[in-house]
Amino acid sequence: MKKDIFEKMQILANSAKYDVSCSSSGSENNHKTGELGATHNSGICHTFTSDGRCVSLLKVLLTNFCIYDCAYCINRKSNDIKRAAFSPKQLADITINFYKRNYIEGLFLSSGIIENEDHTMILILRTLKILRYEYHFNGYIHVKLIPGADDRLIDEVVALANRVSSNIELPSDKSLKLLAPNKTKEKILQPLKHARDKSLEKNTRPIGMSTQLIIGATPESDKDILKLSSVLYDKALLKRVYYSAYIPVNDHKNLPSIINKPPLLREHRLYQADWLLRFYDFTYDEIVNDEFPNLDEELDPKTFWALNNLKYFPMEINKVSKDELLRIPGIGIKSVFKILKARKFKTLDFYDLKKLKISLKKAQYFITCKGKYCAKISFCDDKIKQAIITPPKKKILQPSLFDMDFSAITGEI
Ligand code: SF4
Repeated sequence: MKKDIFEKMQILANSAKYDVSCSSSGSENNHKTGELGATHNSGICHTFTSDGRCVSLLKVLLTNFCIYDCAYCINRKSNDIKRAAFSPKQLADITINFYKRNYIEGLFLSSGIIENEDHTMILILRTLKILRYEYHFNGYIHVKLIPGADDRLIDEVVALANRVSSNIELPSDKSLKLLAPNKTKEKILQPLKHARDKSLEKNTRPIGMSTQLIIGATPESDKDILKLSSVLYDKALLKRVYYSAYIPVNDHKNLPSIINKPPLLREHRLYQADWLLRFYDFTYDEIVNDEFPNLDEELDPKTFWALNNLKYFPMEINKVSKDELLRIPGIGIKSVFKILKARKFKTLDFYDLKKLKISLKKAQYFITCKGKYCAKISFCDDKIKQAIITPPKKKILQPSLFDMDFSAITGEI
């Protein structure tokens, strides 16, 4: 790679690293020269396609010049940082080059706003056209749509990309006004609404759409955030919402203190809650409400819900419906299907669950098998919470029922 292109690559891959809406990115690793596993500086990240494959992507900005000054953004115009811009041809060439060398399987392309929204979208579109029409590149391309760009440009991008996204960044208009005054939720969602409507037209290829929300830069509760995600999923606007713990990169009077650590546990809990919304049929107000507007730090959201709804438990594993099984803490979708299948042939006991490789670490407190409750504590929320938060240390000579060697316990079942 020529020196100037290499420098541009370093600058523009570095500028793209705070965007997580292409999935597992932005994570620091302690790479040392000579070791394997450095993905960070090279701008290579990973994402999952709709069929579940993990693909590596070149994650880069077309340019980190920007006419806007969003308070939280490393690329805001008032920051004194190294700036660079690829031409569409340069970026298409790099992508093909990396692809042929087997470094990447696709491209995640975003950009600062250069001149204006339409001009930026045109440059991105040109890159796509070179890749698709001149180089006949059929690989995965995720494009960040530019809010405010002309609908016709959005249409052309949607026709060529596999996935598009537009980052809402902050969960309310009030916060946007405070930190990103050039943006409104409506303006950010407009290209996604347009792309959704377009993809619903006859004979149009469906396209994945996602967004990113920054967590912890503004005072919204988890309830506000999950309510917004829930609305976006209900309107079929998005396939994924990505939550990004706020990483302080700038000093600004409206931002939280720069010495705070990124709220990574909160980000993790939000992903767990989001999973419940998308795959477990929970509604956001079952997970968070006016009494508990924020997710619990000690317990995952499903366990927290179960402990606050003990009236539904313990559930008899042989009798409850699929939807009820999905509510049991520690029992995931795969386990539910294993149980349903096995139940057709016999009435299950704890041995059978163990043989099915179903984790009972949490589930043991919320189920019965053949009418028997086998956790070694009484069925009471405080005791269960305590047992889950601080599981008893394993004693070598007293193996637990759920760590196998069942015969050593009591023979109750
Ligand atoms: S418009 Fe985008 S790139 Fe520009 S300052 Fe705002 S967040 Fe950063």
